[in-house]
Amino acid sequence: MATLTFFGAAQEVTGSCHRIESPALGSMLLDCGMHQGGDAVERLHQEDFAFDPETIDAVILSHAHLDHSGLLPRLVNEGFRKPIYCTAATRDLLEIMLEDSAALYERDLERENLRRARRGRKKIKARYSMKDVARTLQLCQPQEYGESRQIGEEATLKFHDAAHILGSAIVELRMRETGKEKILVFSGDLGKSDSTLMSSPAELEDASLLLVESTYGDRNHRMMGDTLGELKEVLRDTWQDGGNVMIPAFAVGRTQELLFQLGSLYQQGELDNWQIFLDSPMAIKVTAVYSRWLAQLDEDVLRALRAEGKKTLETFLPSLNLSVTPEESMAINKVKRGAIIIAGSGMCTGGRIRHHFKQRIWNERNTIIFCGFQARGTLGRLLVDGVKQIRMFNDEFAVKARIETLGGFSAHAGQSELLAWIGNFNSRPRVVLVHGEPRAMDILSEKIWQQQQSAAETPRLGQSVIF
Ligand code: ZN
Repeated sequence: MATLTFFGAAQEVTGSCHRIESPALGSMLLDCGMHQGGDAVERLHQEDFAFDPETIDAVILSHAHLDHSGLLPRLVNEGFRKPIYCTAATRDLLEIMLEDSAALYERDLERENLRRARRGRKKIKARYSMKDVARTLQLCQPQEYGESRQIGEEATLKFHDAAHILGSAIVELRMRETGKEKILVFSGDLGKSDSTLMSSPAELEDASLLLVESTYGDRNHRMMGDTLGELKEVLRDTWQDGGNVMIPAFAVGRTQELLFQLGSLYQQGELDNWQIFLDSPMAIKVTAVYSRWLAQLDEDVLRALRAEGKKTLETFLPSLNLSVTPEESMAINKVKRGAIIIAGSGMCTGGRIRHHFKQRIWNERNTIIFCGFQARGTLGRLLVDGVKQIRMFNDEFAVKARIETLGGFSAHAGQSELLAWIGNFNSRPRVVLVHGEPRAMDILSEKIWQQQQSAAETPRLGQSVIF
């Protein structure tokens, strides 16, 4: 008997963390992600693990995004010392993600404690530190796609390409119990099949239980070809209006896809004379990791780069400026027109993009392009939903910039791609949906019913399923 319990990403899209317990395997976590949105310090100090970290035998990490990996250092701080299985590229990205996240946490905590000191209240103790990040990275045991590893007395683990971001994996766990084999397949986050940068998600056929993400269970994305057409049009219009373009970008995946697409337009002579700024130290580091692992990306990427004699994503787009320091970031404010500014955070919950909004969101010549999922409660979601006034930095700003959403850049499979991926499995496995908002899950469940006459389960936080 195996038990799967959901500690996050249950009827929501962040905080991916599930525990699997079985005699063949012991007790392992699938991901150890952080809830996102709102105040990070508050969240880290209000939420406790619903289990004892010392009792976990291993963590199987699907990919480096913080909503799947962000609580690993805290797990280590609270006593976890066992292996973390992930791909080698995930390990490289994890280092950047966790260090950045820890630095932000330390900064915010210091601010909070200063506020408390001023009010004569007790300081709060850090839940983890940079030391725990280093320890976390030491626990990583890289494993390639397709390689089978014995991870319990009667259990093996295999990763397959999920084509979501660099290094992302679909997890296949095979367990033997009283002579019978059980197969748990966890989709992790599944990529789009027509993404230009990534290959397609691996198609698997065998599973007893299928744990599937459902971020876009309620809709299909535009095809990549249409999206590129839209991108070209929006850029052309804004160029002609003498405006600037701001792109809130996720540092991992979307940014690199965007750089590659802008590079392709440039190489084809279809890009006006924009000055392009990548204004995010983290995205700059991540892009360097992508350039190091080009062989894991879609083969068309390598081909396109080679055709221009380029060896990195950065050099494929010669008009790209990398803004590392705050001074370099602020210097972008002097550019009056013709700037494309790519800055984090992707959902505008923090980061440099808000400073660029402050400079430019109230001017109708400018355009904001969203190219990724905007979760409820984030500034990005408000803008996508069409609010006309926003509050930032204790001030009000009119939203006059044109707002565009380009769905084709999403790093997640759309509804029909999820259904096709589920449909590949033989003998209709039991399907459990995670990583989606309730509406998306309901609509996807309905479609799964139509496709294979079996009901998908949508567990709540803290619930378990036995298989
Ligand atoms: Zn992800």
